[in-house]
Amino acid sequence: MTKGRYANIIIDISHEKVDRTFQYRIPDELMDILEPGMCVQVPFGAGNHLRQGYVMEITDKAQFPEEKQKPVAGIVKDSVSVEADAIRLAAWMRKAYGSTMIAALKTVLPVKQAMKPKEQKKILRRMTGEETRAILGEAIRKHQAARVRVLEELCHEPVLPYELVTGKLNVSAATLRSLMTQGVISIESESYYRNPVKIETAREAGRELSDEQEAVRSKVLSDYDKGIRKTYLIHGITGSGKTEVYLSLIEGMIKRGKQCIVLIPEIALTYQTLLRFYKRFGDRVSVMNSTLSAGERFDQCERARKGELDVIIGPRSALFVPFPDLGMIVIDEEHEPSYKSETMPRYHARETAQCLAGIKNASLVLGSATPSMEAYYRAKEGKYELFTLSRRLTGGNLAPVSIIDLRKELREGNRSIFSRRLQELMTDRLERKEQIILFLNRRGYAGFISCRSCGYVMKCPHCDVSLSQHMGGKLLCHYCGYEAPSVNKCPSCGSPYILGFKAGTQQIEQQLLKRFPGIRVLRMDADTTRPKGSYEKILTAFSEGEADVLLGTQMIVKGHDFPNVTLVGVLAADLSLNDSDYRAGERTFQLLVQAAGRAGRGMKPGEALIQTYRPEHYSILRAAEQNYEAFYEEEILYRELGAYPPAAHMMAVLITSGSRERGEKLSENIAQLAEQAAQEASGSREKVRIIGPAKASIGKINDIYRFVVYCKSCSYDSLIRIRESIEQFISTTELKGEVVQFDFDPMDSY
Ligand code: ADP
Ligand code: ZN
Ligand code: ZN
Repeated sequence: MTKGRYANIIIDISHEKVDRTFQYRIPDELMDILEPGMCVQVPFGAGNHLRQGYVMEITDKAQFPEEKQKPVAGIVKDSVSVEADAIRLAAWMRKAYGSTMIAALKTVLPVKQAMKPKEQKKILRRMTGEETRAILGEAIRKHQAARVRVLEELCHEPVLPYELVTGKLNVSAATLRSLMTQGVISIESESYYRNPVKIETAREAGRELSDEQEAVRSKVLSDYDKGIRKTYLIHGITGSGKTEVYLSLIEGMIKRGKQCIVLIPEIALTYQTLLRFYKRFGDRVSVMNSTLSAGERFDQCERARKGELDVIIGPRSALFVPFPDLGMIVIDEEHEPSYKSETMPRYHARETAQCLAGIKNASLVLGSATPSMEAYYRAKEGKYELFTLSRRLTGGNLAPVSIIDLRKELREGNRSIFSRRLQELMTDRLERKEQIILFLNRRGYAGFISCRSCGYVMKCPHCDVSLSQHMGGKLLCHYCGYEAPSVNKCPSCGSPYILGFKAGTQQIEQQLLKRFPGIRVLRMDADTTRPKGSYEKILTAFSEGEADVLLGTQMIVKGHDFPNVTLVGVLAADLSLNDSDYRAGERTFQLLVQAAGRAGRGMKPGEALIQTYRPEHYSILRAAEQNYEAFYEEEILYRELGAYPPAAHMMAVLITSGSRERGEKLSENIAQLAEQAAQEASGSREKVRIIGPAKASIGKINDIYRFVVYCKSCSYDSLIRIRESIEQFISTTELKGEVVQFDFDPMDSY
């Protein structure tokens, strides 16, 4: 119990201007009851309206005279209190990512409202069978039909579900009451947890680990026993046994009485994956994800809090499940962009897990076939311990990958999106009744401009990013605001085939049907997967052989095994290279490696074709070779040259306004302020570069204008200081609906 007469409380209003604590007096009746993290009601402002807030701290230090302090009005019933560790995590988030404390608190609170437990009512017989039969006889004589129905059942079964009796047996509550007063039955209810996943399966022990796997297991656990806490990175291709290592590590943690959090991208959280965890750990595993109801989520947290769970699996928000004694956090596919939150605070699960591991004294294990530049960089710096799993344990070799130059196809008269080689191989697979995956490497929105003859891409002269075409044909740089008029001839080779690349999966499906009459195509993209459950449905249909081709966007490349797939075609690999984004090369490499890895997962050998307009680009070359190390070496040079993460840190300041003028003015002020703060900072030691202000890549959304300022520095702290001076400036400026948001080491450009 924290002693003290005053409570520092944060008021639940998501507004930066009141994002600080206020001190209240603790009234006698709450003394020794109030604790940090509790949700309370307090009088606020001149009108003393009751507002909700969270107790951040209890102290004996008065911020102002006691007689002027208002008392805490009471504790909010049924609210969920935040644990002290969660408050520390929220405080870190607020500092590292820039958000209000309340937004950070809401993020670390997986549920805000306590939910009533689910109850199940039962009818229990209170008499012996013989006594019951006597009463039954009496009811028969008196023609009490309803009584007869329930008593007959009770003669056979001493316990009946309440719903059965009131439902199927159609017995009224009045009848039951009279049986109760007579002492024949009693009605009891017991509460139970809502369980989101019901997987009943026999338990299975783990496999004997390979030497490489065992090396990871024993090192991580022996470090743990010696009190060494670290971040470990397991680099291993799909099928190299990473999951098996996680399972054995978790087993080790459970033996030590600790709990584990396992993060898996939502899209990879399939039944097969869950089944493996349930087989190993039974019902001491549970799931936390966005499809759970509030009640289900609450119950999983309760189970965790009470020590009834050992493992929770879920996407990034599963980090906030309140375990009493967390031993390890695992992040599988740590390179996935979905680990970064898209709303304030824009936290990254990897960094947040590292902070949480520190608070909870836990270990952190990351795994990936294509580690993020961040993780590998830190492994090289020696901040993470790197393990490599080099062999596929399922047998089967990586499929050979070849690159097809689409420019050459065009020169030789083939204007279709399918190269001649791809058509040949597809015909062959269709004849052999083997399956094909066609991957359209795009995410969806702004098109870019490239030359179909020579591959030339329109680029900004000031930044190493491609220009994107906007309405009306104007070309724009997302980073510096550079603009150019639209073109109708390639500036490099003069070809008229310079166009925005806009082909979508639907158009490709039509072309497929034209070229291969009778071909059965399943299409998977943002449109076809919108209805709930359709994602799994399409995958199941494909694995049951209901189609020859699975055609889709980036969502089809994630870890699914289709043993009958022997051909993977990437239609235009460079599509993702032309996202005007410093991570484009990395993302392209990752997607291509994953896509190529889809071929030949079964007994039959497979093959992958990467079609591209830029066959010389290192992301594409290294992906075709499946050579991560070589890719990393080239990519890191580019990051170092441009001072992009992980070589430096980057903070995007996004300014939005309903008025273009006001937004522009504010962005200019912010850029100037950043420049000033940067000069002050660089006086000390760390150089900061300010880029902008510029119009954001999507300059207007819903009539709100968007502007962006980028700040780059090797020192994260310098960026935090710049942010703090911007926040300070904003808090003293009259704004008319302008909003300023911060994004550290962003995943996308603005
Ligand atoms: P990853 O997570 O790296 O894709 P998995 O752990 O899923 O790899 O392992 C791939 C396949 O190899 C699975 O079918 C798994 O059961 C099997 N496997 C993993 N470890 C071993 C082992 N030590 N011995 C035999 N099979 C293994
Ligand atoms: Zn530019
Ligand atoms: Zn050209």
